[in-house]
Amino acid sequence: METLEHWVSGAVFAGESTRTSPVYNPAEGTVSRDVRLATTADVDTAVQAAKAAFPEWSGASLAKRQGVLFAFRELLNARKAEVAAILTNEHGKVTSDALGEVARGLEVVEWATSIPHLMKGEYSENVSTGVDVYSLRQALGVVGIISPFNFPAMVPLWFFPVAIAAGNTVVLKPSEKDPSAAIWMAKLLKEAGLPDGVFNVVHGDKESVDALLEHPDVASISFVGSTPIAKYIYETASKHGKRVQALGGAKNHMLVLPDADLDLVADSAVNAGFGSAGERCMAISVIVAVEPVADDLIAKIKSRMTGLTVGDGTRGCDMGPLITKEHRDKVASYIDIATKDGATVVVDGRGVKADGGADGFWLGPTLIDRVATSSDVYKHEIFGPVLSIVRVATYEEGVALINSSPYGNGTAIFTNDGGAARRFQREVQVGMIGINVPIPVPVGYYSFGGWKDSLFGDTKAYGPDAIHFFTRQKAITSRWLDPSHGGINLGFPQNG
Ligand code: NAD
Repeated sequence: METLEHWVSGAVFAGESTRTSPVYNPAEGTVSRDVRLATTADVDTAVQAAKAAFPEWSGASLAKRQGVLFAFRELLNARKAEVAAILTNEHGKVTSDALGEVARGLEVVEWATSIPHLMKGEYSENVSTGVDVYSLRQALGVVGIISPFNFPAMVPLWFFPVAIAAGNTVVLKPSEKDPSAAIWMAKLLKEAGLPDGVFNVVHGDKESVDALLEHPDVASISFVGSTPIAKYIYETASKHGKRVQALGGAKNHMLVLPDADLDLVADSAVNAGFGSAGERCMAISVIVAVEPVADDLIAKIKSRMTGLTVGDGTRGCDMGPLITKEHRDKVASYIDIATKDGATVVVDGRGVKADGGADGFWLGPTLIDRVATSSDVYKHEIFGPVLSIVRVATYEEGVALINSSPYGNGTAIFTNDGGAARRFQREVQVGMIGINVPIPVPVGYYSFGGWKDSLFGDTKAYGPDAIHFFTRQKAITSRWLDPSHGGINLGFPQNG
């Protein structure tokens, strides 16, 4: 059985650890390889490699750094089918979805190629007689990135292209559940001309994460994962003096007003609820139906669900398996909880006939109506193909419900009333909003992130926020000596 090793200083690195973790093909339910789990000392080796590469890389010209990103963009685009196959093999998502993930990551690479423009400072001439002030931005140093299982390529791509373009060096700790895409990208960066040591990958679990959070030579942490871990990451890394952005979990509501186009709503609900088997932080998991639309809407969603195919992602199915058996069992357990709590299970995904391995981690699309807001089905982030319906009487009741959620990642409103949509975008306490758009992931030149328990720290991923996060600003006040301005003056400097 192959053991996937770390990547340090532009080469495979086995390190000292003897611990490994199994990586599954979730469509077969079998172990396809093991992944090494780094020790604290292994993480230190990676950080030291990144630290050693920093002076030369941060001092490289903008043109040189931009050139590497352009080359990486070309290679990634040309070979996206290769990494998509890795994603399908280890995560289970269907090929079209895997290609979509890479396409959204490519957007950030393309945006990062604008780094010469994005790093420009400001200049004010003659702020005082003969005195100029200007600002510039510089890289932080070694930056740490810790990513989740559900987007093994895209989430790292949210961060490292901008981090590298800005002159930082990187240690990435991908999810141990599907770690191969990170190594594939590391090799591609080398092929694109990135100097050794600028981008390093360590695999691992809590030990390696803690080693990064506490390492004195790591300047910042960018984390994406579940809310309890995001909170822990934010607190621990902050305590160790680091700049932190920690994106957490979600429970995304879709508010459907009575005037909405219900065919569009049903298509959108099915796509956003069951795409990637519901393992997306921007998946719609709750439909808030303003009566009297619920019965008609449920009928339309149900008819679309009967046509969905579940199976191995390479076989042209609509939906793949879940990431692990434990996760599949946990997600399925919410169907029992729903029944116990008095909800109506309209479509039960258990026992689905999947076009894949007999031991694959299967659960079919599931629809649950009349979910009580006191039920764990409503309160928990389920992270699987389970779509809940909550019925409300008014727009106000729907918005109040969304705003009472501890999460604030994404939401959507479906309506033909522009005034209602405008009011919603103002009143709803959520970071990313769709108006007749179910998965409002901002394009690469905006920034991605939620509110409340969906993001700890004030800086979102990619877009303009990323330049702010991955650089520090200096303001310089300069005077080239003019003898007429000499002399002693102990007063506080003033402009004049
Ligand atoms: P997770 O929190 O279990 O793991 C995320 C990362 O943290 C992994 O690299 C993992 O190895 C590490 N980790 C796990 N347990 C740890 C611990 N006790 N101490 C230190 N590190 C630990 O998340 P996941 O299951 O991989 O991913 C799914 C979650 O990520 C969902 O909650 C989803 O909403 C969230 N997510 C959020 C966004 C967003 O943008 N807000 C995007 C994608 C996924």
